[in-house]
Amino acid sequence: MNATRTDRCAECGAAVPTSGDCWTRLHELLEIETRVLPSLDPEAGMRAHFFAVATYQLQHPSRLTREALDRLHASVDEMTGPAPPPIARLRRDMGRFAAGSQKVTRSAPPSDRSHIDARWPVSWSVTAQDVTERAESEYPDAVGRWAVATLADLRVAMAATSR
Ligand SMILES: [Zn+2]
Repeated sequence: MNATRTDRCAECGAAVPTSGDCWTRLHELLEIETRVLPSLDPEAGMRAHFFAVATYQLQHPSRLTREALDRLHASVDEMTGPAPPPIARLRRDMGRFAAGSQKVTRSAPPSDRSHIDARWPVSWSVTAQDVTERAESEYPDAVGRWAVATLADLRVAMAATSR
């Protein structure tokens, strides 16, 4: 791929990293986690990890089946809500879902969004790029706010006139 600095990810709208593949941003986030999370209490660490992976996936739905996407959306909603469950319970639920489902992920080009609601956004108020550019000490807070901003974008988009 000949990525230039002006290339934008078809799904999240952020500038494509020098690797040419936006997916490597997720790896950047996980690298930050190896430095930041060990100093947090385990629950806060797992929560930050959940927000990073789940939010990245919400912004890149071409890689998930519709059922997995809906499930993930509901989980992030619950985790950012007034009474978030212990992360272990959420992981159990997601694990059961993944084990019982024929397909959670799909391999399709980012441009193939035929299985997704047409209103699902392709640009977001906060992206993984924004999170990776923050100071690492702010990471746990930044991923939580990224999740909340993403849900807000989705709420606005889904409230728009249906196709
Ligand atoms: Zn992207």
